[in-house]
Amino acid sequence: MKQLLMGNEAIALGAIRAGLGFASGYPGTPSTEILETLSRNLEGNNLYVEWSVNEKVALEVGAGAAMAGVRTLVTMKMVGLNVASDPLMSLNYTGVKGGMVILVADDPGPISSQTEQDTRHYGIFAKLVVFDPSSPEEAYFMIADAFAMSEKLGRPVIMRSTTRICHGKASIELLPKLPHTSDIKFEKAPRWVIFPRLSAANKPVIEENLVKLSDEFSQYPNNKIEQNGTAPKLGIACGGTCYAYVKEALKGITADYKLLKVSTYPFPQKKALEFMDGLDTVMCIEELDPVIENQLVQLCGLHGLSVNIRGKRTKDVQNVGEIFPDITKGIIYKYLSLTLPEAVSLPEPPALPVRPPVMCAGCSHRAAFLAVKQAVGSRKAVFCGDIGCYTLGNAAPLDMVDTCLCMGGGITAAQGLRRADEAAKRHNVSGDTPPGVLDFAFIGDSTYFHSGITGVINAVYNMTDIIVVILDNGTTAMTGGQQHPGMGETLMRTRAPKVDIYEITKACGVSKIIRCNPFDFDAAKDAVTSVMDEKGVRVILFEAPCVVVEKSDDKYAVLADKCTGCGLCKKLGCPAIVDKDNKVDIVYDACNGCGVCEKLCKLGAIVKEVR
Ligand code: SF4
Ligand code: SF4
Repeated sequence: MKQLLMGNEAIALGAIRAGLGFASGYPGTPSTEILETLSRNLEGNNLYVEWSVNEKVALEVGAGAAMAGVRTLVTMKMVGLNVASDPLMSLNYTGVKGGMVILVADDPGPISSQTEQDTRHYGIFAKLVVFDPSSPEEAYFMIADAFAMSEKLGRPVIMRSTTRICHGKASIELLPKLPHTSDIKFEKAPRWVIFPRLSAANKPVIEENLVKLSDEFSQYPNNKIEQNGTAPKLGIACGGTCYAYVKEALKGITADYKLLKVSTYPFPQKKALEFMDGLDTVMCIEELDPVIENQLVQLCGLHGLSVNIRGKRTKDVQNVGEIFPDITKGIIYKYLSLTLPEAVSLPEPPALPVRPPVMCAGCSHRAAFLAVKQAVGSRKAVFCGDIGCYTLGNAAPLDMVDTCLCMGGGITAAQGLRRADEAAKRHNVSGDTPPGVLDFAFIGDSTYFHSGITGVINAVYNMTDIIVVILDNGTTAMTGGQQHPGMGETLMRTRAPKVDIYEITKACGVSKIIRCNPFDFDAAKDAVTSVMDEKGVRVILFEAPCVVVEKSDDKYAVLADKCTGCGLCKKLGCPAIVDKDNKVDIVYDACNGCGVCEKLCKLGAIVKEVR
């Protein structure tokens, strides 16, 4: 029977079908649902899954499992692979025993990431095989090929997907598990210890494999040539989700063309040469970077072919952002000199209300930001942010995020800013960071475990005067509430010891740490004020649950006769507080009852509602 599955569910179930025994990862859009699906399918599958503290750890834990012969899946978004790149590079040299697939989800756009990256480059850089499926259904089947290839080579392989594969849905026939037996036993051998001598011996093997794999992949059924007409002169080369878009655009077209679908790297050179035979021009359509395009250009150079390779380099295809089906259709029609059919004229839809991303009504981060802002007052301060819901604290009226670089990068950036401030003081230079600036760093709980703790240790060791504000809302909120080490439960649904942020931070040797509830607004402000003029690494640990996980039943309302419209409560930026008749009102259904606005109103115009 067919099932309607999200691509990430298809990948997870495809991995189980292929004999998966271990999976690890760190949450990150658009990859998160893969491990969540696995955790819902533990029964009868002899499967272990975990959220690791970061992607590097996930890959290393996975490496251990794969060294012992377990079929292993490690998942992350593409920026996570930057974090995991150290073990990634080495793992090709030590190799693995059990098949290991590193699933990396790219985010064209980017829709929810700090950068736009093409993971196929990492595969080429690390000299690893990359599988690049074009649909959720293909991903379901292809992951079995990826495990088999990894085991055959004794090396990890990458499977890259993109947002539309991860989050698109398809009706997929779920098949029985493939026959597979694992010999799970770690056997001691020199290969597991990465010495330069071993690497020198391995490098030629890796290089030889790449050549052999290019030939082998020329026979792989998912790398294929399709043809319309007897002697086409125009070719189209594509891969990933663009293959599906190209096929859609070509429906009903009678023009002559040849189509090359590329699903693997090393690039299937022989297949590509066969494809280019007889062609004058090739249009390359792919997300994100011109990887297929560059490979074809190289091949033409190597073989002296006079085929005109077009695509991103020639500006026929955009080199940033998602390539949507209608964009693909436009490229194809222009390329094949066809006239786009008149678009069916539909009535203009009503304009959508502008909804900028904001923190939820009642979010504890909002209270924490405002407490810091009010405590700082008119003093000069720089607020370094980090990756999480609280990055949204940069928006007005809070305006509390001046920098945001990468996971864990706020605590460390604050240290550099502090040193710059000190340099300005030494040289008596007046500039944007005059002496006396307070350097704050904000970081959420999951990000703190991911890569924040090392920043605190660095600040303590180097005796840096910064104030670290840990926003602990008890979950990995940004990606939908995944478990982390501070929560006392695992992805296997077992109870676990809670790693205590307060104790761990204290043990790092910080000069002062205060824990407090940001909704206890006056105490929160006092806590910040009390550390502002001290030296060393001072930490405020704000603790209050994420409002999505734990909602209050309380509701607040505005007494119109008392409200003067002064706007003090609006400094919080709560989306439930709206303008009304030169005063404010609270949208009943939107209010999550945190009560901070009540504390801000000096006139007692905001009250808890009794219904
Ligand atoms: S109590 Fe006030 S600040 Fe809190 S969610 Fe409701 S309207 Fe927003
Ligand atoms: S702070 Fe009080 S008086 Fe001022 S706008 Fe808000 S509800 Fe009205």
